[in-house]
Amino acid sequence: MADVLVIGAGPAGVVAALRAADLGKQTTLITRDEFGGMAANDGPVPVRTLAHAARLLRDSRQLSRYGIAVSEPTLDYPRLLERVREVVNEVRAHSVFREHLDRAGVTIHERAGTARFIDPHTIETERGLRLQADKVIICTGGISRRLPVPGFELTATHSDAWRLTAVPPSILVVGGGATGVQVASIFNAFGSRVQLFQAGPRILHTEDEDVSAAVAAAFRHAGIAVRENFGAIERFEQTPGGVRMVFAKDGQRDSTEAAVVVVAVGWVADAEGLQLAKAGVLTDARGYVQVDAYLRTSAPHIFAAGDITGRLMLAPQAIQDGFVAATNAVQGMTMPVGEQVNPIGSFTDPEYAQVGLTEAKARETHGILVAMVRFDSTTRTIIDDRTTGFCKLIVERSTHIILGCHIVGERAVEIAQVVSIAIAAGMRVDDLARVPLSFPTYAGILGRVAASATRQLNLAVKWQAHQVEE
Ligand SMILES: Cc1cc2nc3c(=O)[nH]c(=O)nc-3n(C[C@H](O)[C@H](O)[C@H](O)COP(=O)(O)OP(=O)(O)OC[C@H]3O[C@@H](n4cnc5c(N)ncnc54)[C@H](O)[C@@H]3O)c2cc1C
Repeated sequence: MADVLVIGAGPAGVVAALRAADLGKQTTLITRDEFGGMAANDGPVPVRTLAHAARLLRDSRQLSRYGIAVSEPTLDYPRLLERVREVVNEVRAHSVFREHLDRAGVTIHERAGTARFIDPHTIETERGLRLQADKVIICTGGISRRLPVPGFELTATHSDAWRLTAVPPSILVVGGGATGVQVASIFNAFGSRVQLFQAGPRILHTEDEDVSAAVAAAFRHAGIAVRENFGAIERFEQTPGGVRMVFAKDGQRDSTEAAVVVVAVGWVADAEGLQLAKAGVLTDARGYVQVDAYLRTSAPHIFAAGDITGRLMLAPQAIQDGFVAATNAVQGMTMPVGEQVNPIGSFTDPEYAQVGLTEAKARETHGILVAMVRFDSTTRTIIDDRTTGFCKLIVERSTHIILGCHIVGERAVEIAQVVSIAIAAGMRVDDLARVPLSFPTYAGILGRVAASATRQLNLAVKWQAHQVEE
């Protein structure tokens, strides 16, 4: 019997297994498919590789503006998919986690098939492995939500989109969340005619409203047909050229069609095959595994970490969860999942990112001040001809603490990392304004926007070199 058995080798499971082994426990890690989980094999890594190709295409369009003559670039999609596979394999091969796990003596069973509970301490996998453990940590992640509408089987998920052998002439993306907007943006860059349909009033509904509006406007400008508030889907049906979606709004029936329809309407827990009831593990109303602040489930010896708990569905948060769950599984309830700063962003064109509170949320609980600097007014963005976007900073008036930052535009995700550190450190906005960020850089916009907030607050700013732009 192992001391600790971890199910699922995504970021949460890998770190949970490593932590348990580091704490001296005999640990086993099993996973249905490849090591690395969604993060390495089907999520950020392949998406980022395709987004990089999309960026290269858009960068190439600038060449003539900078006096460089080349012929029109063409996309060899099968070659690009080969590159995606190369990258995925390389990332997996260089995983430091794999090396550490091997060195820490963790027993790893990859491609073991779906694991399920036989009783609270026994797991069996599709491929016939039977394992017993004192403690179990469930890290099985999430999967695309399916819609209970006729013809749904004609639609694709983001995973199918990456596996297409050619760029489709047209693509309909249903769902304007983080995954949907990335699929739309990437295939638009590759030359598909893209429609992006969102049931709610705005795409990216968890982002600041200014971000949703700016990304939607930029998408429309780039030729994507963005339709918000489109109504409710009635059915999907096959057509000679692809798939038709029939939908209705306010009693009016309408339809649209495309060669490929990708549905990206959220995630559900990958818990179906686990037979959780046999272990006494409860799920919440949305189907995610219920956990307390220590990531312990309703069964006291079973913990859960990462996407399976249905909180923030991101790789860094899954990693932190894995560490916390394993610590508590081994040492008792010593480490709660703390409040943390969560930068979120996507590699669309334009990129967008957020950290901290949105303006609407901040207004509910704080007296705030908002400062904004547009990308068409900073030196680096003008040099690079990347002038679409803005950086918006939200500051608490009474304490001058930074509550949130929202960015649309080139390198938005990278800029958000810098603000995350400022927020995590509890920096006041006038402190941020005093940091001499390099000139001319994308992150330098933070100095501008912090200086603008500082001035609005009538605080003294000691001017630094980067504020030559002010
Ligand atoms: C298109 C896309 C883009 C994304 N982009 C980003 C991004 O840019 N940044 C970011 O931080 N996050 C991103 N994410 C989210 C990120 O991939 C997840 O948050 C992260 O992978 C969650 O880690 P996890 O360990 O909880 O689960 P996963 O990575 O999903 O790993 C779960 C593992 O458990 C295995 N498993 C499932 N059920 C069983 C079972 N019954 N038995 C055995 N094994 C099982 C699965 O095969 C899988 O290997 C993206 C996701 C998608 C889909």
